[in-house]
Amino acid sequence: MNGATNKVAVTVAYGDGIGPEIMNASLQIMSAAGARLDIETIEIGEKVYNQGIAAGIENSAWESLRRTKIFYKAPITTPEGGGFKSLNVTTRKTLGLYANVRPVRAYSPFVATKHPAMDVVIVRENEEDLYAGIEHRQTEEVFQCLKLITRPGCEKIVHYAFEYARLNNRHKVTCFTKDNIMKMTDGLFHKVFDEIAVEYPDLKADHKIIDIGAAMLADTPEKFDVIVTPNLYGDIISDIAAQIAGSVGLAGSANIGQTCAMFEAIHGSAPDIAGQGIANPSGLLLAGVMMLVHIGQGEIAERIHNAWLRTIEDGIHTRDIYVDSISKQLVNTREFADAVIERLGQHPETFTPVHYERINTHEPASYKYVPKPPAKKELVGVDIFLNWQNRNATELGSKLQMMQGDGLNLVMISNRGQKVWPNGLPETFCTDHWRCRFMVGQPGETITRKQVISLLQRLDAEGFDFIKSEHLCTFDGELGFSVAQGQ
Ligand code: NAD
Repeated sequence: MNGATNKVAVTVAYGDGIGPEIMNASLQIMSAAGARLDIETIEIGEKVYNQGIAAGIENSAWESLRRTKIFYKAPITTPEGGGFKSLNVTTRKTLGLYANVRPVRAYSPFVATKHPAMDVVIVRENEEDLYAGIEHRQTEEVFQCLKLITRPGCEKIVHYAFEYARLNNRHKVTCFTKDNIMKMTDGLFHKVFDEIAVEYPDLKADHKIIDIGAAMLADTPEKFDVIVTPNLYGDIISDIAAQIAGSVGLAGSANIGQTCAMFEAIHGSAPDIAGQGIANPSGLLLAGVMMLVHIGQGEIAERIHNAWLRTIEDGIHTRDIYVDSISKQLVNTREFADAVIERLGQHPETFTPVHYERINTHEPASYKYVPKPPAKKELVGVDIFLNWQNRNATELGSKLQMMQGDGLNLVMISNRGQKVWPNGLPETFCTDHWRCRFMVGQPGETITRKQVISLLQRLDAEGFDFIKSEHLCTFDGELGFSVAQGQ
């Protein structure tokens, strides 16, 4: 922050396609509204990718981002073909932006929608889950992607969702997971949600399995208020929500971390209309409103947001939302920005005016993860994954029984998670990827890592192609692994 002028340093990227057009329009409106910004401009996207920089961002740009800690970003074009990394994923992970916050609401009757009462905020975990990008090809037929869910990750995002709900006068937080199937990973997310919900007795809290939850969201979105969910589900439902609100071009999003934050529209660089000056700047502008709230300029955010609502109400619409029977005036990007500027200081008449406190309603509470005292961890077995071409489970079981000993017994073989030995069914389809579970003989017994190594050595000596092993542990006596389907 610049003490003399009370300006806040912000890093701005104009992006590709319609990016520069909508960024100019948004910054013009912010400037006219009196936003106190000290702008540093960086280059990202197509031009940088084309210089051979695979991440789409130069080192000097990171320096600016680390200095300002606030990133206002227009959409970029991701080049087709391999070798390029997603700038969004890189930025989120590098800057630790763990919360993706996407408010989606209908603007009925002024923007056509099937869900006029919709007003939902999706809080998506942004760093973990299948997006860790840890993938392997393990056999001729089988590929794997690791789904990582951590306790600190769950605690941070769930706390954020409840704090956001409270600070923004929301009433309910709903958690979406698939913990009926992924009992350990999604189970942890749900468990942490239940633990933290009790700290917010003023807010309602409930949980839905993601499939029925997504169906309900698409059917009756007005039943939801704030939704918190792991990364992949959040990615999918936030696009569904924006689409059904009738406003992909109207939604902005915030990516929030402990020290840095990034604000952008949810849409892409729209190369089909780039350079024509007809793009709707609303998504980026509303992201800018979230940014102003975040940096403590809530009163400016309020002026802009109310003027924008009034413009939409007055039927002044860009082509993407223009409908003859509803709209009054078809405008281009610049004319739309001028219309918002003319209305600064006015309030909407049909929509409820927004009110932002002079506090930061996007900052996570000063939440600090406190590790729990470590549980007693004991090694009780090992899952060895084999690449084995012969599809006969009974034969594999007989061969592996010969490998038993030194405190470890073969207890089960599964293929794609389905138990196939002992007593498998011939109908079960098997690939070349087998999970072979060796465990201690009696409950209460434990083994050492040396016994695992010795088992691997015996398997190696017999020519088995083991591709990975996964230790089976108990934590304070509780199983730290799932059982196979049918086990
Ligand atoms: P897109 O969102 O750019 O466009 C989809 C459709 O919506 C197009 O018909 C477009 O004209 C229209 N549209 C989008 N924004 C609009 C606006 N503000 N006003 C009026 N119409 C608008 O999606 P796409 O075509 O799939 O992707 C184009 C490029 O954008 C791709 O390179 C993609 O990788 C990139 N992209 C970037 C981001 C980002 O930077 N955050 C996000 C999504 C896509």
